[in-house]
Amino acid sequence: SKAPIAIIGAGIAGLSAAEALQTAGEAVQLFDKSRGPGGRMSSKRSEAGSLDLGAQYFTARDRRFSETVQRWQAQGWVDSWSPNLYQARSGQLSPSTDEQVRWVGVPRMSAIARGLIGDTPATYACRITDVFRGEAFWTLVDADGTSHGPFSQVIIALPAPQASALLATAPKLAAVAASVPMEPTWSVAVAFASPLETRVEACFVQDDALDWLARHRSKPGRDDRLDTWVLHGTSAWSRQHLDLPKEAVIEQLVGAFAELIDCVVPETTFTLAHRWLYARPAQTHEWGALADADLGLYACGDWCLSGRVEGAWLSGQEAARRLLEQQQR
Ligand code: FAD
Ligand code: NAD
Repeated sequence: SKAPIAIIGAGIAGLSAAEALQTAGEAVQLFDKSRGPGGRMSSKRSEAGSLDLGAQYFTARDRRFSETVQRWQAQGWVDSWSPNLYQARSGQLSPSTDEQVRWVGVPRMSAIARGLIGDTPATYACRITDVFRGEAFWTLVDADGTSHGPFSQVIIALPAPQASALLATAPKLAAVAASVPMEPTWSVAVAFASPLETRVEACFVQDDALDWLARHRSKPGRDDRLDTWVLHGTSAWSRQHLDLPKEAVIEQLVGAFAELIDCVVPETTFTLAHRWLYARPAQTHEWGALADADLGLYACGDWCLSGRVEGAWLSGQEAARRLLEQQQR
């Protein structure tokens, strides 16, 4: 029987490619360095329940993605979220409702990846460090020195800097990936002893330190025992404070939050900080996916398109489409 296709990265781009290939009758094998799928759409278990520290919600503008999200909704993996939305300009909060449909995984963001992965073969806690091609097949090597293969083709579905490191066999693709800087985001979750007396459930801030804040329990299907908030630092602030200890990051972002929010902020009873080193590409692109079709090596991810969940999903579809197109030649 034919060798399967290796997909490195089980974020939404890798899962999208996996689904498209399996639908076309191909066998795939996923690899991820984390303990489960989802990447930047994963959720973190904590004493305050499961928290979405990465992607907060997503929008669907492309027709194919919209249709897919409707299917996810029918399967019970996603629901729409309509928070009392605010914006802040120069420290002033104002309501900012709009008609935009925003989607979240239910009961947590990671539900989408969990649903998509189904029984697809996946190897977790496996960081791939080398990808090379022999006469006819590909071999992957992980950080423990273990080899995996043979594979007929390889799709690299990682943030651009990490993808670039694995694209050495195709120097042109490696150079394109290396040209995409990705910005960090500090993400903090905090819970308060008593619920905050505010109507605010989400806010676009884009101030000095704070970029975004969201009230966890305003999302559908969440555990609402605690009043937990997720705060994101701006790219610039996160870059400047990349190596700040977590306690100091929490203190500064909660301080900015307390200054902004229109109510008394009591003591925090729970805090958590997570640093996303490669949170978002510095610019958007229109590449779809990268391919060296003769070699059988492909790269996809949010950085090939819009730097959003939708872009990542579409990029995975495009990598799969190009691979299948090449196979039919
Ligand atoms: P990833 O999700 O990063 O997947 C890559 C996977 O590869 C990861 O699971 C990682 O563990 C794995 N990996 C990395 N290196 C290796 C290796 N060497 N070997 C094996 N595995 C490896 N988008 C929106 O649309 N709306 C939002 O509100 C939003 N907010 C965001 C907030 C934050 C804080 C962050 C970080 C992102 C946000 N995004 C948002 C962006 C969105 O999450 C991403 O665009 C999307 O999830 C990217 O998917 P991906 O599959 O391209 O990459
Ligand atoms: P969207 O349409 O809700 O938001 C896009 C941008 O438009 C917002 O960032 C905000 O600046 C502005 N905006 C939208 N509605 C607004 C309103 N009612 N009032 C004031 N401003 C409003 O969603 P999208 O286009 O799918 O974008 C995804 C979101 O994900 C963005 O907010 C983006 O900043 C965020 N994101 C964050 C990261 C990260 O690493 N922190 C990475 C990728 C995306």
